[in-house]
Amino acid sequence: MKAFDATRLYFDRAADQIELTDNMRRLLLTPKREVQVQIPIEMDNGELRTFIGYRVQHDNSRGPMKGGLRYHHEVDLDEVRSLAALMTWKTAVVNLPYGGAKGGIAIDPRTLSRRELERITRKFVDNIHDLFGPDTDIPAPDMGTNSDVMAWIMNQYEKYHGFSPACVTGKPVELYGLPGREEATGRGVGIFVVKLLSRLGRKPQNTRVAIQGFGNVGSHAAKFLQDAECKIVAISDASGDYYNKNGLDLSDMLKHAQAHQNSLAGYRGADRLFKSGDLLELDVDLLIPAALGGVLTMENAAKVKAPIIVEAANAPTDPGADEVFNDRGIVVLPDILANAGGVTASYFEWVQNRQHYSWGLNRVRQELDKALGDAFESVWQLAQERKVTLRTAAYMLGIGRVGRATVLGGIT
Ligand code: NAD
Repeated sequence: MKAFDATRLYFDRAADQIELTDNMRRLLLTPKREVQVQIPIEMDNGELRTFIGYRVQHDNSRGPMKGGLRYHHEVDLDEVRSLAALMTWKTAVVNLPYGGAKGGIAIDPRTLSRRELERITRKFVDNIHDLFGPDTDIPAPDMGTNSDVMAWIMNQYEKYHGFSPACVTGKPVELYGLPGREEATGRGVGIFVVKLLSRLGRKPQNTRVAIQGFGNVGSHAAKFLQDAECKIVAISDASGDYYNKNGLDLSDMLKHAQAHQNSLAGYRGADRLFKSGDLLELDVDLLIPAALGGVLTMENAAKVKAPIIVEAANAPTDPGADEVFNDRGIVVLPDILANAGGVTASYFEWVQNRQHYSWGLNRVRQELDKALGDAFESVWQLAQERKVTLRTAAYMLGIGRVGRATVLGGIT
């Protein structure tokens, strides 16, 4: 199933619950604007290559559009469209004054030099600088991009528009960034896990965790959960799966990754599971997909043993697998809530850039914990009241807020 069709299916389940009309469904689902641009650059060896970049601006009825920029070789318009819609519901679930957008460039950043990445990023900004900005659409990091890329975006944007640190978030702390932004998505995942375990009457000490992905989100979620006394027994990244039934040595793994371009390749301090996909089917208490989309499918859903799944990645679960999980009583905390810590911290960064004021790490963490705690309680209560899954409840909350803002603002 295509990525946008999957998002649509989740949307429709919630729209049925709130009895949204067909015309409103069409209005809320249709993106405001989709842009595809050519990015020709000269490679380090003098060769000319052309890449394709996308930005989809899905909805702005609640405020400027907000969403990450992904660098991955499989990026296409359908995926970006689907992720942009997810951002609209996500910002609404956490009640941020934002709409949703997403961008991406179809490149494999691991095969490019830093200078090539910088040239691609700057050329992309040259192409779309008049379509984004502090009051219209604010990019942020996603898979394959980081604070360096955000700094290049800001610098290139300012060549056209003057001083505008609020045009992008996730910047380096030394350059109008926010202390705590980098950890925020993973920290948020951890906060939600602790709240969910408590609601389900489980203890962190008795929770064995498997995490797919050891990048920004996966590594920070792992750190937070280990501090919360969960036992991290398995972690994977693009180089393979690493397992220790007694708990992995996380600080050793982090040290290895930092010394090897954020990769666990060559790490010898754990067992290997050998078959790709094994981690998703491990006998654990909690599974956290924190890498790619579409990894939980009809093929492996019946083999998943974890009774709880927390979707740190965007769109890791196909709708067919989601139904299998519901039938089997597996509790799924959906992406539009589970990974909302990143956009919430991005909101704090944007507010401070606009006020020329900066908070310390403690205040950022306090505000983040409060915002995410409130969002979790709203979704949990709605799910209980309406006897629906946490995913449907989160979509009901998000779609309801966007729908009301759309009507209040006047449609035609
Ligand atoms: P990242 O690029 O920092 O890390 C991605 C990780 O996934 C790396 O460890 C990589 O090795 C691993 N990976 C890639 N292919 C894999 C495979 N086949 N099997 C196992 N691991 C694999 O990306 P990130 O920022 O951590 O983002 C991860 C997910 O979280 C994405 O779905 C992203 O959309 C979502 N997300 C990120 C943020 C954020 O603030 N960074 C916010 C919200 C959602």
